[in-house]
Amino acid sequence: MEEDLEPEKKRTRGLGTKVATSRPRATALTTVPQTQGQTAVPKVPRKTGPRCSAAIATVLKNQKPGPAVPAQKPGTTAAPPVVGRKKPSKRPAWDLKGQLCDLNAELKCCRERTQMLDQENQQLRNQLREAQQQATALGTERRTLEEELARMRAQAEQGQQELGNLSTRVLELEERLGTQEGLVQELQKEQLELQEERRGLAAQLEEQERRLQASEAALSGSQAELASLRQEAAAQADLLAKREERLHGLEMERRRLHNQLQELKGNVRVFCRVRPVLPGESTPPPGFLLFPSGPSGPSDPPTRLSLSRSDERRGTLSGAPAAPTRHDFSFDRVFPPGSGQDEVFEEISMLVQSALDGYPVCIFAYGQTGSGKTFTMEGGPGGDPQVEGLIPRALRHLFSVAQELSGQGWTYSFVASYVEIYNETVRDLLATGTRKGHGGECEIRRAGPGSEELTVTNARYVPVSCEREVEALLHLARQNRAVARTAQNERSSRSHSVFQLQISGEHAGRGLQCAAPLSLVDLAGSERLDPGLALGPGERERLRETQAINSSLSTLGLVIMALSNKESHVPYRNSKLTYLLQNSLGGSAKMLMFVNISPLEENVSESLNSLRFASKVNQCVIGTAQANRK
Ligand code: ADP
Ligand code: MG
Repeated sequence: MEEDLEPEKKRTRGLGTKVATSRPRATALTTVPQTQGQTAVPKVPRKTGPRCSAAIATVLKNQKPGPAVPAQKPGTTAAPPVVGRKKPSKRPAWDLKGQLCDLNAELKCCRERTQMLDQENQQLRNQLREAQQQATALGTERRTLEEELARMRAQAEQGQQELGNLSTRVLELEERLGTQEGLVQELQKEQLELQEERRGLAAQLEEQERRLQASEAALSGSQAELASLRQEAAAQADLLAKREERLHGLEMERRRLHNQLQELKGNVRVFCRVRPVLPGESTPPPGFLLFPSGPSGPSDPPTRLSLSRSDERRGTLSGAPAAPTRHDFSFDRVFPPGSGQDEVFEEISMLVQSALDGYPVCIFAYGQTGSGKTFTMEGGPGGDPQVEGLIPRALRHLFSVAQELSGQGWTYSFVASYVEIYNETVRDLLATGTRKGHGGECEIRRAGPGSEELTVTNARYVPVSCEREVEALLHLARQNRAVARTAQNERSSRSHSVFQLQISGEHAGRGLQCAAPLSLVDLAGSERLDPGLALGPGERERLRETQAINSSLSTLGLVIMALSNKESHVPYRNSKLTYLLQNSLGGSAKMLMFVNISPLEENVSESLNSLRFASKVNQCVIGTAQANRK
């Protein structure tokens, strides 16, 4: 505020100085020059305005005409006019010259006086102008002062207002002070409480410290114990490493022994499975099919099957029907009609284990149409887990064993493919999109030049890692088969379905690898065409199909024989089926054939054919299998 005021003061002071300095000048202005016969002009008062003009008027009034200059006689030097001297006495009337002279002198005097008065007038005008200028300046100054006064008033008002505000604020602050004081009191109370609490805590702390000391004592004891435990852990880790090493050795030994056991059981095994009589089918006569028990009695799993056939063409001399002929067969295992899917799978789960161990495994289902091949391989209808077939069971088993082996450092991967061989053409059963059901023809080729591995062109190879994925694939295959089905021909029974799973295992820690295919084959119906049938266009087609089937099935038999006899040439190329399966058959592979038999008497002829074929296969022993290990 003071700072604001300061320039005003300065300004006022400056003005004051100006006014003060103008004063002597005003005095100078009022000094009228003294002339002869003139009285001194009184000093003009300092104030200007009307008063100043009055002073000037007074000056002019006081100026009396000067004394007449006495006329000089011609030829004489005119005496200088004497101011205040008495006028010369009046000239005689005749002295015209003298009078004239006087008048001239007087005129001259008047002129001088007029001149003087003009000068004075001029001076006074100048003074007046100056006075007016001064008046103007003073007016300006007055206005400035008035403005300043107004400003000061405004400031004063503002000050008043501020004062009012400050008073309000003071009131507020006082109020707050009151509140704060209340707060302070509360805080003091709280402080007291806290002090009390602190005392309690200090007591607790003391207690804790006491306990801590005790704990520290215990800790040092524990540390000693820990050190000894660490030593023990190191010893245990050492032991564990040794055990792991031993476990690995045992696993390898298990694989070897497992393989030996499988070889002892035979690298080519044949299981016979007789399906139950279905609702609506005529029950066969008693004794038609018999399952004699093994050497150790009924507790032994059956391995033999006896089938009786009454040949109506053979008659006795007396005309009585000939006694039925018994045909006995012996296999690695026989499953009578009541055998469940789980029972069947148990027998083959060992083979699935061999596949994981790196041995190629091939499982076939052979038999006439309707004998239960698809039931055995894929399972019964309705998705009932009880009737699940070998394919889903085998895969579930594989996934779970692979999971167990992961604990020993093994990592497994599985890639599935599913194709159908119909009339010597290969079709992808996993085809999707536009190829679904019609999938373009596929070809069996070597995976690469010089490679042993075979691959089916245009077929999908799907990596699988859980049951759900396998179920989805089987569902897709069923859909693809349904699309291809025609009214005349149940094509699926006229074609071979080959499900292949490429198993690859790796033990990164030990640099071990194993790989082997597991093939599960639902073969085409093995029934022969009735030679007495008239050959219509449909039958001709049927004949062609049957010939293709028979040819490929007999090639399969020949391949197995050739392998068994260790012949130098194995006719794999004679059929698409054996060509595709060649890596799952040879010396390093394990083969299992299910011969599926119908329990019906009307199928006896086909059953006998199947059993004979299976018996031949059963006589085969294929060289010692070797795991595909690297
Ligand atoms: P295939 O594939 O040999 O032509 P399927 O597997 O289709 O024969 O079987 C024909 C019928 O018999 C199907 O209805 C099937 O459900 C039934 N079947 C086959 N085997 C059994 C079995 N072991 N238990 C119950 N039903 C069976
Ligand atoms: Mg079938």
